[in-house]
Amino acid sequence: MLFYFYRLFTGPKSYVGVSKNIIKRIKLHLLGFLPYNDNVRASEIIEYSKQHGTDVCLQIICVVDLPSRYEAEILEEFIINNIDCVNYIKNRVNPPNTKHHYLKEKVKCSCGCMISKRHLSRHQRTMKHLNSC
Ligand SMILES: [Zn+2]
Repeated sequence: MLFYFYRLFTGPKSYVGVSKNIIKRIKLHLLGFLPYNDNVRASEIIEYSKQHGTDVCLQIICVVDLPSRYEAEILEEFIINNIDCVNYIKNRVNPPNTKHHYLKEKVKCSCGCMISKRHLSRHQRTMKHLNSC
């Protein structure tokens, strides 16, 4: 998944964001219409520009291919910590459940059956397995 990391800025104020659809996201920022608490921070930028007559600028910081939003939020947090911006660090989404994924992985048993790791020890006690070994 491609994630766009961007900075909206005007005068001394910056807002950092991440999106998979940058054009749509920027439109929503400018309309002041986003279903996230985040938008309260972004609207500081828009309000400042209205009050001071400054332009709102967009800078694409980087475009990165990442496996999930979890990694994207870690990188976003790093950027927020390294740029003077209006953002707060938000609560991260949960990390991908790797343990669950591991258990669903299939392995080849010594008898030749393909068995999920979760069920391997149970399978090795079955007649099917014992008869073929
Ligand atoms: Zn077996």
